[in-house]
Amino acid sequence: MHQENKPFAFYLERLARTAESLDLTPEQRTALETPNAVIEKELSIVRDDGRKETLRAYRVQFNNARGPYKGGIRFHPGADLDEVKALAAAMAIKCAVVNVPFGGGKGGIQFDPKQYSTAEIERISRTFIREMNGTFGINKDIPAPDVYTTPQIMGYMLDEHEKMVGESEPGMITGKPIALGGSLGRDTSTAQGGVYVLEELVTMRGLDREKLRVVVQGFGNAGYHAASILHELGYRIVGLSDSKNALLDPNGLDPIAIHRSKQEHGTLASPGARTVTNEELLAADCDILIPAALDNQLTATTAPKVKASIILELANGPTSPEGDAIFEERGITVIPDVLANAGGVATSYFEWVQNRQQFYWTKEEVFERLHPLMANAFHAIWTTAKEKRTSLREAAFVLGVERITTALAARGIK
Ligand code: NAD
Repeated sequence: MHQENKPFAFYLERLARTAESLDLTPEQRTALETPNAVIEKELSIVRDDGRKETLRAYRVQFNNARGPYKGGIRFHPGADLDEVKALAAAMAIKCAVVNVPFGGGKGGIQFDPKQYSTAEIERISRTFIREMNGTFGINKDIPAPDVYTTPQIMGYMLDEHEKMVGESEPGMITGKPIALGGSLGRDTSTAQGGVYVLEELVTMRGLDREKLRVVVQGFGNAGYHAASILHELGYRIVGLSDSKNALLDPNGLDPIAIHRSKQEHGTLASPGARTVTNEELLAADCDILIPAALDNQLTATTAPKVKASIILELANGPTSPEGDAIFEERGITVIPDVLANAGGVATSYFEWVQNRQQFYWTKEEVFERLHPLMANAFHAIWTTAKEKRTSLREAAFVLGVERITTALAARGIK
């Protein structure tokens, strides 16, 4: 099912359409097509058995017109330069869409963390920060967790950074453990932000939660929390998957119980559920499909079979341009990644604010701020989409690009 995946070309294609509709100048267009900096390093690490290995690592600083570069670090074999560049560009758009004062960046180390011990992961994380010396800083470039990176890994990275700069600087990284200045609510914020947006749509359409069936692909930070929050709200979770297994049960699955059993036995399992392939999961009977794993899942092959009428993109880049065109033609509402998963970066912004002021908020205070921020972004995009008669993705791009080019213009790039 995997089609040729060129995420940066996909970004450029989308940008070209937006640039035309907004009549961008060549200077503005170049600024949005070209990363400000691409930093590539070879990390030399020693395995537990003494073997030496070299891993390729990237940090792409895409655009900082609106504030410091901001974006996660991914540990994955597929994290090549093309992917990291596309994700960095998407971060610039995303931060503009939810109107937080950051630019866009992204990092990646190309390896399979599942094959490495905890001690090896710690050494890799510390080596990354040492090799990237001078790249990160509270006013410069602020990383965060992404696929297969955790608060603990952010903790190692902060510790290594502070050793190098010789002072406390918790705001140089977000998504870190609470004990080091992490924000309450950051762990569930990506999912919670997506749910706030989904609920705006559900309310606007007058839909009944109890009748809505949900399939979630991916059972990590984004997917697990989304499934459990929706389950608690009364939605019926009928499909779940992780990298090893996919489950379907039209009678409903309990994500919290499945999570507990995954922690005990290592696999997704639920009595009475049917084990299916990833393709079957995406094509399952449901109302809401939530891709929350990897990119390029909803393509020319899989999109025609999707039965959901709403897609909430918690993953970054789960829909290819062909998939997008199919959904538009079929009248399926796609809540695009730059909006759907922006609760993570919005709460990272709150974490950074708390670190700067050294005064911390309760979880309730964090979500009291997140809720209107996500709802406002949704309605701004919805209104733009109606006015311009475009998809929500196109509208989000228009809004994001407009805000970045306004900042560029204020810097003299017109
Ligand atoms: P994670 O590492 O916590 O979880 C990833 C999950 O995807 C795991 O459950 C894994 O088993 C599953 N997975 C991997 N390959 C799969 C496959 N082929 N089929 C089904 N499941 C598969 O990562 P995460 O933080 O939840 O990130 C998931 C997506 O959400 C990514 O695209 C990420 O960029 C995006 N995202 C995450 C955050 C965040 O705050 N965590 C914020 C914004 C966007």
